[in-house]
Amino acid sequence: MTTCADVLVLGAGPAALCIAAELVEQGLVVKALASHAPEQPWPNTYGIWAEELESLGLASLLAQRWTNTVSYFGDGVGDDGMAPINHNFDYGLFDLAALQKTLLARCGDLIWNVETAEKINVLGAQTEVLCRSGNAYQARVVIDASGHRSRFIRRPDHGPVAEQAAYGVVGRFSSPPVASGQFVLMDFRPNHLSREERKQPPTFLYAMDLGDGIFFVEETSLACAPPLTSTKLRERLLARLSSRGVEITEVIHEERCLFPMNLPLPDRQQPLLAFGGAASMVHPASGYMVGALLRRAPALARELARSLAVEPALDSQALAKRGWRVLWTPGQVQRHRIFQFGLSRLMGFDEAELRLFFATFFSLPQQDWTGFLANTLSLPKLVRAMIRLSLISSWDIRRGMALGSTHF
Ligand SMILES: Cc1cc2nc3c(=O)[nH]c(=O)nc-3n(C[C@H](O)[C@H](O)[C@H](O)COP(=O)(O)OP(=O)(O)OC[C@H]3O[C@@H](n4cnc5c(N)ncnc54)[C@H](O)[C@@H]3O)c2cc1C
Repeated sequence: MTTCADVLVLGAGPAALCIAAELVEQGLVVKALASHAPEQPWPNTYGIWAEELESLGLASLLAQRWTNTVSYFGDGVGDDGMAPINHNFDYGLFDLAALQKTLLARCGDLIWNVETAEKINVLGAQTEVLCRSGNAYQARVVIDASGHRSRFIRRPDHGPVAEQAAYGVVGRFSSPPVASGQFVLMDFRPNHLSREERKQPPTFLYAMDLGDGIFFVEETSLACAPPLTSTKLRERLLARLSSRGVEITEVIHEERCLFPMNLPLPDRQQPLLAFGGAASMVHPASGYMVGALLRRAPALARELARSLAVEPALDSQALAKRGWRVLWTPGQVQRHRIFQFGLSRLMGFDEAELRLFFATFFSLPQQDWTGFLANTLSLPKLVRAMIRLSLISSWDIRRGMALGSTHF
């Protein structure tokens, strides 16, 4: 039997490290356990709008930063169809080693037990995590940061969950797949697709120049249920590149991405807390989450520290309730519903409708579209941005957003 901590954090991904760092800084007694050591490199590439990190004073955590940031929403035919939209907003890729190191340094001498949790028992005043090894760990409350597919967190079943899927290659190419020094958020040009293929779920290219003749190109399906397979996405990527006379000459790294976009919000009455993917914190309309982790961890940690200091007798259920109230405030829940609604509408659009929608969306004032994508707008500002979007949309897009697409 080990001693009882204030909080036990489950996981060693970005969510676990973010929340553990904040809890330690609040002076709480923290335990952590994960299936792998917290220093093990994270497998994904994480991107973020640079301003999100600047506003947190963390811009130095970017490994690379692009000022030339564009998207393509034309049909790929003629000058008009080929023209990019300039975002005039910097985008970056995290230096993952630096992010991990910074968060671990903030965790001080917190020890991560390399264990796989199998069962969580809420015993009233405390909660026990039973591990595959047979070891048990106790804490006043547990924060599950074990990712999108956590089996410990209860959430309602709203039917099939749409997943973002992508297949990407970091490599060298016969000729540059994107312009030198450029970042492409979304290239939706469909001119390499047959009529039949255009009726299938749309995908776009996410791509960037990494320097030294190396590029990252990734064919992405924003959200689909069931998700597109990586074989299909690879096929689409190669067809897109080939239509531009580009071939992959060296594969340095392959990325296969699959994560849920519209996971229902967790049951906020359960005696267990969650953070990150397990807490449905992925932005349902964009797929981004790391900025939200950094922004939302401090309030949760502060609330737990305050609750434990002011009411030391609180049990796991009561502590979890306090935590959920702070993590998913009524405003956050409303905003999440708006994003989920938006995603559900987008998933009904065909590729021509999607291109038209995004061209309109990115013509919103910069603070509106960036705030929407990062989830940094207050609820009233988000609603105003959505009204503005409706006002500048074509009649067909407006009707599609209000009533669902009829594939006009
Ligand atoms: C390929 C890919 C690319 C992405 N790109 C971006 C991006 O560019 N920008 C962005 O903001 N978001 C991105 N996301 C979305 C999201 O930010 C990531 O999915 C992120 O990794 C989720 O963080 P997490 O810490 O919640 O979960 P994870 O990163 O999945 O970490 C879960 C942790 O829990 C541990 N664990 C799981 N089960 C147990 C158990 N039973 N016992 C003990 N430990 C356990 C795991 O070992 C791991 O340490 C991407 C996702 C993917 C898959």
